Amino acid sequence: MRSIFGWDLPPGAADDPGAPWNQKEGPCDVCGLSVDDCICPECPECGEQGDPICYEQHGLVLSDEQRESKKRADDERRESDKRMTEYEDQMEREYEREMALRKEAGEE
Ligand SMILES: [Zn+2]
Ligand SMILES: [Zn+2]
Repeated sequence: MRSIFGWDLPPGAADDPGAPWNQKEGPCDVCGLSVDDCICPECPECGEQGDPICYEQHGLVLSDEQRESKKRADDERRESDKRMTEYEDQMEREYEREMALRKEAGEE
């Protein structure tokens, strides 16, 4: 039986540079941008960039720009998660309908 997770991404989503599946690595935990676009300074203490621990333990302070950027990224991610969930729900309903139709038709 075909897995319901075997379907393609929503139209256009595959090209969305902000989509989670297009991130080489996870987005920066501090500014929310992809690693390439990260605006966080290097930590003078440990040399890490965009590590939340530096802001808790190594004395780094978030700039307004980082805060804004993170907030925007979180909003976008929520929006994209919502679209993904809606799409999954829709695909699941369509899959169930298809299965029901096949059953009616006497097929497996
Ligand atoms: Zn960052
Ligand atoms: Zn650090």
